[in-house]
Amino acid sequence: MAQLYIGLGTNIGDKKKNITNATIIIGSILGDIRTLSSLYETEPWGYESENKFLNAVILVETQIEPMKCLEIAQAIEREMGRVHTKEGYEDRIIDVDLLFYDNQVIESERLTIPHPLITQRDFVLRPMAEIAPKFVHPVLGETMEALLEKLPQNK
Ligand code: AMP
Repeated sequence: MAQLYIGLGTNIGDKKKNITNATIIIGSILGDIRTLSSLYETEPWGYESENKFLNAVILVETQIEPMKCLEIAQAIEREMGRVHTKEGYEDRIIDVDLLFYDNQVIESERLTIPHPLITQRDFVLRPMAEIAPKFVHPVLGETMEALLEKLPQNK
């Protein structure tokens, strides 16, 4: 069994429901949900929007290999109605990011694990540090709580 950390984000519609629905679908396809972080309300990151985000991180125990997990994550985004209308960041019903897959380091064209923006994003590091403070980033060799501590304010 692999321990897969997934970041969820949503800023349109009934955001709590979007997170709940995504968690239920992930639990039924990828594997058992072991931990769910609190929900964090955050400002849009990387672009301007009036719609604040709700973010959370979940820990899933899965037997499915990483590339297949990515395909499933993207299928869930599509099923829940996410549409890409332009390049870059935009409002979305659900965003499903694969953050960590055990201690694996993967760099392929379609998949980078650990997710490359983890260390810059408060909305990922905060829930990660809540549910797995001692988890060590396999590339940086630092714990989630240490990385959160280092993050500049308001990122
Ligand atoms: P996003 O718009 O944030 O959903 O980004 C999706 C794109 O990021 C897709 O083209 C994925 O192939 C790529 N990607 C690379 N690494 C990851 C990852 N760890 N989790 C999710 N998407 C990833």
